[in-house]
Amino acid sequence: MAENNFDYDAIVIGAGTAGLSAGIALQKAGKRYVILDKKDEIGLPVRSTGAVSLEWVKRIGMPTDPSIITSNINALSLRTDTGKDISMDFGKPIGLVYDFTKYEKFLSEKMAGKLNIRMKTRVTSVQGNTVKTDAEELTARYIIFAAGPQSVFGEKLDRHNILVAYEETRQLPARHDYQMVLWYSELAPGGYVWDFADSPTTRKIGICFYPIESAQPKAVLEKFTEKFPELRGNMIHNMAHQIPLSAPLQKVVDGDHMYTGDMVNAVLNTTAGGLQGAFWTGTAAGEAAAAGDPMLYQKKWDEEITPWLLKHHRIHQKMHRNGIKTVSRMMTLAKIMPMAIKKRVFGGL
Ligand SMILES: Cc1cc2nc3c(=O)[nH]c(=O)nc-3n(C[C@H](O)[C@H](O)[C@H](O)COP(=O)(O)OP(=O)(O)OC[C@H]3O[C@@H](n4cnc5c(N)ncnc54)[C@H](O)[C@@H]3O)c2cc1C
Repeated sequence: MAENNFDYDAIVIGAGTAGLSAGIALQKAGKRYVILDKKDEIGLPVRSTGAVSLEWVKRIGMPTDPSIITSNINALSLRTDTGKDISMDFGKPIGLVYDFTKYEKFLSEKMAGKLNIRMKTRVTSVQGNTVKTDAEELTARYIIFAAGPQSVFGEKLDRHNILVAYEETRQLPARHDYQMVLWYSELAPGGYVWDFADSPTTRKIGICFYPIESAQPKAVLEKFTEKFPELRGNMIHNMAHQIPLSAPLQKVVDGDHMYTGDMVNAVLNTTAGGLQGAFWTGTAAGEAAAAGDPMLYQKKWDEEITPWLLKHHRIHQKMHRNGIKTVSRMMTLAKIMPMAIKKRVFGGL
């Protein structure tokens, strides 16, 4: 029994990046906690390309163990399908791509030892300090919500604040020019098409966009690929999910409840990358619960995490204001930046 007659010091709902990071912080602090997840296995199904900025990975303490990294990103190219581009070779890694399943298993077993996780356990309701699952009722001093986008426990987002995302791992040879290529196109409003390195014989080709029209992402990706034969290849694996794409929430703590990751839109709007935000918010919430003061998490959110997310949100708003026209104009401007500034701006995002 934990302090104050609760079963646990903390219950974490969700064993994705945010929930696992919270668990790591709680485990390191020697707290009594449990992570509950409805799915069968950590890191499956794959729900992310796994690309992250190396500068931020190091800054917030995400893992860099070689066994979980499929490729490094040394060079990137941003393009429009109307022929504009801005391409950079940094001569050293500025990002990396995780093997998503190995990465989440690493979080669950290696960063702080084996975490206390109960899989195949769906949380059906939360009232105050009581969490009901499909099997039992548990209590905790603090509840950390890390249940992902569009969870019944989080804010509902409309089609102007969420991207649909779809990715195919395709049989394609590794590129020798860029490990990360993003294409902006009217076919992907608010988002882009991507081509990421995976293995010597496979690449990850995907698309994300606001579901303003009811087009299916798979069909839109197919249409885009018709124009660019270099992206055509047999599909080995695919996945689809949603990505919140809006300003970060203001309030992430409500009494003994803390909200993290995609649930609070901790997603970098420019790249639609949410792994770093999930890791950072999960860690901060776990540390605050371990310290017995949820408001420590709100403070970190207000002072450190929100300004970073807002920067990306504002750039995204500007970039996509008039569709591909504004993206093209911004690329033309970026092209005349001196290389040193380009490297600083794009390498540190
Ligand atoms: C196609 C695609 C590609 C992406 N690529 C990148 C990328 O390259 N880089 C990047 O940084 N980000 C990327 N993202 C975004 C990133 O994957 C997410 O932002 C991140 O995984 C969110 O983590 P999370 O822990 O908040 O949520 P999740 O990973 O969604 O975890 C939530 C967990 O909660 C569990 N859960 C939900 N409800 C319940 C319940 N009632 N009871 C029990 N368990 C529950 C779920 O089973 C799930 O395991 C991508 C997203 C998509 C869709």
